[in-house]
Amino acid sequence: MPGFELFGELEKEQVQQVLDTGVLMRYGFDGLRNGQWKAKELEAAVAQRMQTQYCHAMSSGTAALTVALASAGIGAGDEVIMPTFTFVASFESILALGAVPILVDVDDTLTLDPKAVQSAITPKTKVVMPVHMCGSMADLGALRSLCDQYGLLLLEDACQAIGGSYMGKPLGSIGDLGCFSFDYVKTITCGEGGALITNKAEYYENAHAYSDHGHDHKGNDRGAEGHPFLGYNYRISELNAAVGCAQILRLDEFLEVQERNYRILRQAIHAVEGVTFRRVPEGGVENYSFLNFFLPTEAMARKVHKALADVGVDACFYWYDNNWHYYRKWQHLLQQHTLGKLPNEAKQGLQKPHGLDFSASDHWIGRTISCLVKLGWSRAEVETRALQMATAIKSVMEAQ
Ligand SMILES: *Cc1c(COP(=O)(O)O)cnc(C)c1O
Repeated sequence: MPGFELFGELEKEQVQQVLDTGVLMRYGFDGLRNGQWKAKELEAAVAQRMQTQYCHAMSSGTAALTVALASAGIGAGDEVIMPTFTFVASFESILALGAVPILVDVDDTLTLDPKAVQSAITPKTKVVMPVHMCGSMADLGALRSLCDQYGLLLLEDACQAIGGSYMGKPLGSIGDLGCFSFDYVKTITCGEGGALITNKAEYYENAHAYSDHGHDHKGNDRGAEGHPFLGYNYRISELNAAVGCAQILRLDEFLEVQERNYRILRQAIHAVEGVTFRRVPEGGVENYSFLNFFLPTEAMARKVHKALADVGVDACFYWYDNNWHYYRKWQHLLQQHTLGKLPNEAKQGLQKPHGLDFSASDHWIGRTISCLVKLGWSRAEVETRALQMATAIKSVMEAQ
């Protein structure tokens, strides 16, 4: 997945153009910047690649999620449905606005189970936030219908699946809003950065203002701009945006390499009896940043995870025990460990740890192994790895 593996001349050249002007900020300083507007350039390139009308770049993917929610008017007490398997940014962005994250089961897509989503809808629900984890997507057809039926907003977190598609449309562009992260380990990187995309002018107008202290960005005197509402600072710097300008142009090249490597690995372990693969919804195309597969039992998944590490196959993850990605280790959320007080609406609305039953998620995540697909491997390296993986998995299965 990581774009950092292929940091080269194009990235350096883009950054140098910013350094030559010395204008590191995305707004203002028109006379000094010598025509360089890297954040704007990045936004135009992302909007074009994702076939949406609008894109707004920010300081991180977490910022993008927060601003996306804020731009649609989400606030204190509003319930946002999110999956049990994701990155902590999902609930961080929701809680940042005083809204309430509602954890909901995932299925064999490793993303939100539409049936579980439907059961979790209450009069307070405002948003369904599928997270396209590990390179593949939620069942967007089913979720879109549910959102239309109940009048909810569909916000796609496509931070881990940029470049994938559903029914021919880029992931992120199917929801009312979509978010990407360009942090250092994502498929394309800015160092730190993120973006939201949308086709709705109102959300875009709200987003650029909200992420820059509420500035309306009218006229060309920044000091004299109005503040139609309260905002915050989630701006991306021109230096970070410059790296992104180079990387977005390389996205399709990265995807091609990932797909080649993914297919070699998949074919090798496909032949191992007992291995099954994560379900990709019909009409979906992965971005191939991870190869995700199931073992028949939790015990076998643990053994396979260990066997892979033992033979030196690195970057394979067992998310079930992971600190960042699965609800079982989110004690800080479940026990409400916060520095200051939470807003009352969030405090009262949060699910209580006792009584939570995510056995349906455990059934899948407990048996899942995800292996990162890197860009820098040579063909020979991938083939060696594929053989090592197949041999290690087979030895665990045969020992049963
Ligand atoms: C990386 C990531 C984010 C947050 O992105 P940052 O840029 O690191 O803040 C959000 N959601 C998912 C699924 C991610 O993987």
